[in-house]
Amino acid sequence: AARIDRLDGQPAFEAAIALLTLHELTAIRAMERMRADFVANASHELRTPLAALSGFIETLQGPARDDEEAREKFLGIMAEQSGRMSRLVADLLSLSRIELDEHSAPSEAVDLARLATSAAEALRPLASPRGMDLEVTLADGLPPVTGQSDQLAQLLQNLMENAVKYGNDGTTVEVSVTLAGDLPAGAGAALRAGPVVKLAVKDHGEGIAAEHLPRLTERFYRVDTARSRKMGGTGLGLAIVKHIVSHHRGLLAIDSRPGEGSTFTVWLPAAPA
Ligand code: ADP
Repeated sequence: AARIDRLDGQPAFEAAIALLTLHELTAIRAMERMRADFVANASHELRTPLAALSGFIETLQGPARDDEEAREKFLGIMAEQSGRMSRLVADLLSLSRIELDEHSAPSEAVDLARLATSAAEALRPLASPRGMDLEVTLADGLPPVTGQSDQLAQLLQNLMENAVKYGNDGTTVEVSVTLAGDLPAGAGAALRAGPVVKLAVKDHGEGIAAEHLPRLTERFYRVDTARSRKMGGTGLGLAIVKHIVSHHRGLLAIDSRPGEGSTFTVWLPAAPA
């Protein structure tokens, strides 16, 4: 290890440097890079609606000042853009809150079935106008899961909202909460330790091509950016889901058939009896 002496001749950084291997330094660099990319992406995402807002404000102060019709139209667009900024800020805050929570293990006994039922109720106003239905199937005598209920409510909302957004008009989103039988490969120690609750959210929509699946839970990754924006998406929903699942020591699987639809499955450890 290199040795850097202070002016008084005492080694200052020797211990710290000796403790970092090249491999660890590379990992730290990669994390710094990811963080910088994230800040750049987030700023860019915020700048777009902000630029639209300032543009319309200028127009309303100048050329469109006395044009009633233009004013109505522009105010509508401005409301949409500020809504987009609010959703983005809310999602960014959720992500950072989950990251801050990462060191405290979830410990409440959470009734996932009840949360799934209320998430479905909350999404009906989004689904009904498109002739869509949400069908929730719950197994009898389900144990609660060990979790943090606000996070699990958000996980359900994000997955079910995506299923509605990307599902075809007139189709049904099928949500089920059951006791898991066989666990998939990749299930960690927390899942192998006892009973496991399985949540599945299945839609009948356009599906996702295989090449996108590995990157789907990355922040701001979208298959079709224009479509996501039009549906009010922030590109952070699945990144939030992935964080919540790993905070709960669970597992997430995405199974999709282009042209038919997608199923998002989450396995979570049940709370001890
Ligand atoms: P967004 O806010 O764009 O929906 P998400 O992180 O929730 O962001 O999802 C990332 C991308 O994954 C979406 O933009 C969309 O392309 C794709 N996606 C997510 N859920 C589904 C689904 N149920 N069916 C098809 N595509 C989906």
